[in-house]
Amino acid sequence: MVCVKDVRKSFGAFEVLKGVSMDVAKGETICIIGPSGSGKSTLIRCINALVDIDGGSIKVEGQEVNDPKLDKLKLRRKVGMVFQQYNLFPHKTALQNVMMAPINVLKEDKAKVEDRARKLIAKVRLTGKENNYPGELSGGQQQRVAIARSLAMRPDIMLFDEVTAALDPETVKEVLFTIRELAEEGMTCILVTHEMKFARDVADHIYFTDKGVIVEHAPPAEFFENPRDERTKTFLGQIL
Ligand code: ATP
Ligand code: MG
Repeated sequence: MVCVKDVRKSFGAFEVLKGVSMDVAKGETICIIGPSGSGKSTLIRCINALVDIDGGSIKVEGQEVNDPKLDKLKLRRKVGMVFQQYNLFPHKTALQNVMMAPINVLKEDKAKVEDRARKLIAKVRLTGKENNYPGELSGGQQQRVAIARSLAMRPDIMLFDEVTAALDPETVKEVLFTIRELAEEGMTCILVTHEMKFARDVADHIYFTDKGVIVEHAPPAEFFENPRDERTKTFLGQIL
């Protein structure tokens, strides 16, 4: 589904990704963990072409992301992304936020989009908040609107970049619950996260990055119980 092979990326003289490879099968949930500045965000931004790569290859459903002829908007319809900052439109209600892209980008029928948007809002457990503006919602609620907004484009793959990092512990749970449900329904999910319990319980595979390389990757049981590399051991020792 997503095939990352020997990807390199530099910003100026600084090489952020030094030959990174990763394979994600349909329906899998992958968690990427690692120290700050190790290239996690850059890596997942490469997958939906928000960052262009300098070398290597990234294929999404068989299509080369680095192909200059690629229609990036089409790619981003298939690959939804949610960030730490939810970036909702402040002057649109929750429902309007979820409806906007399918109407403006996909040119879908408004009544159908509204029906789907209401279902998505229910799915992220925000029934009753349809007409609230972002400023009237908690951080966790706004983040769930952002997830619903992304799902409204019917993506095949979802990327989550530290989506709970800015939230207080109570609301973190609500957002992780939503992502967990999605993962269990078979959505292909790639998450950058510091939520180790979530990673252990939900991920099919964990990737550990440090200084632009993937130091090791393994299923969660193996990764947490039996990390091989010293860098992984040190990192886990600091956070667990
Ligand atoms: P964090 O856990 O803090 O989010 P990260 O692993 O996601 O870190 P990245 O955001 O991928 O790390 O950044 C990796 C390195 O690349 C950092 O040193 C960062 O300063 C640098 N970097 C990222 N984006 C750019 C950019 N657009 N221009 C220049 N340097 C960048
Ligand atoms: Mg980051």
